Amino acid sequence: MSLPFDLRPHPSPRSDAERAAILADPGFGVHFTDHMAVATWTSTDGWHDSAVVPYGPFTLDPATAVLHYAQEIFEGLKAYRHADGSVWTFRPDQNAARLARSARRMALPELSEADFLAGIEALVAADEAWVPEGARSAAQESEQSLYLRPFMFASESFLGVRAARRVTYCCIASPAGPYFASGVHPVRIWISTTYNRSGPGGTGAAKTGGNYAASLLAQAEAADKGFDQVMFTDAVEQRWVEELGGMNVYLVTTDGELVTPALTGTILEGVTRDSILTLAREFGLTPVERQIAMTELLEGVDSGAISEVFACGTAAVITPIGLLADDAGEHKVSAGVTGEVTAAIRKNLLDVQYGRAEDTHGWMRKI
Ligand code: PMP
Repeated sequence: MSLPFDLRPHPSPRSDAERAAILADPGFGVHFTDHMAVATWTSTDGWHDSAVVPYGPFTLDPATAVLHYAQEIFEGLKAYRHADGSVWTFRPDQNAARLARSARRMALPELSEADFLAGIEALVAADEAWVPEGARSAAQESEQSLYLRPFMFASESFLGVRAARRVTYCCIASPAGPYFASGVHPVRIWISTTYNRSGPGGTGAAKTGGNYAASLLAQAEAADKGFDQVMFTDAVEQRWVEELGGMNVYLVTTDGELVTPALTGTILEGVTRDSILTLAREFGLTPVERQIAMTELLEGVDSGAISEVFACGTAAVITPIGLLADDAGEHKVSAGVTGEVTAAIRKNLLDVQYGRAEDTHGWMRKI
């Protein structure tokens, strides 16, 4: 039995015309649907008061614990509309499992997989009309989706430093336009040697706001220098490739290996990363998880032994990396264009997500 997420309908939802105007150009993370799923946890009663309610602000006491000690976690996944009109999510069980792992690390209560899925499915069902049309043909690059943002935070009003005894869970939904409005093109990456996003024993493997707060200055400085994203190394030796601020990293070798940094506890265990490990063999590549030295990466792209480098995550699926740079200089990857393997894996993942290719791994879940 999962928590009930009964619908308390919005008294004045947006009209069809208002919704259509938003869906015509949704952008990313700026518009939200009419409802949200909520639940409350207390140390005395566990999870309760779950429902799908009208979207709206929380009222927070100034002493609400999350505002002071950042005890919060979140997830990110998408609902996709297939050509027949049906709506599907991609491996939501993996997001449920990661939310539970993040919860353990941040001393928050776990929400069961059944409750996580029940909340998401009730919300998407209530706001189904907000799921944009997907791309109808493989040739189209205009993928649109409904981005789902489950999150949980310490909502107890108390300034003592300890795990909160009252926690709020919420899932909101935001229609998302194509991530690359002007088509996929390789991004320029700045390698951060000044800042780290996480360290051993820290919270790098948890999807918690502080990790993102810690990455913002590095990201802003890289943007000032004309770069799109930051690549972080490990905090101890500043030697090993970890990940970008919001995406995992892969490299393709001329030996036919698809290599990604091993999970050492300091990087986020991406659902896309995991899916690509599974898909590698279908592309005739050997999936490898191991530590990658930054020198190996840069020498490899210079010599051509590493033929492609890409980043991956829910938001952009796969982003080709065209340039890596640090204070010592710039290193062009794949002559600055999107590599063949990068493009093929990207297309394959999108085809499964949008129902254009057979879901041989049972990854899609119908709403
Ligand atoms: N690393 C970080 C730091 C992220 O925020 C994300 C996005 N959730 C990822 C990697 C990619 O994870 P996923 O494939 O599950 O979106």
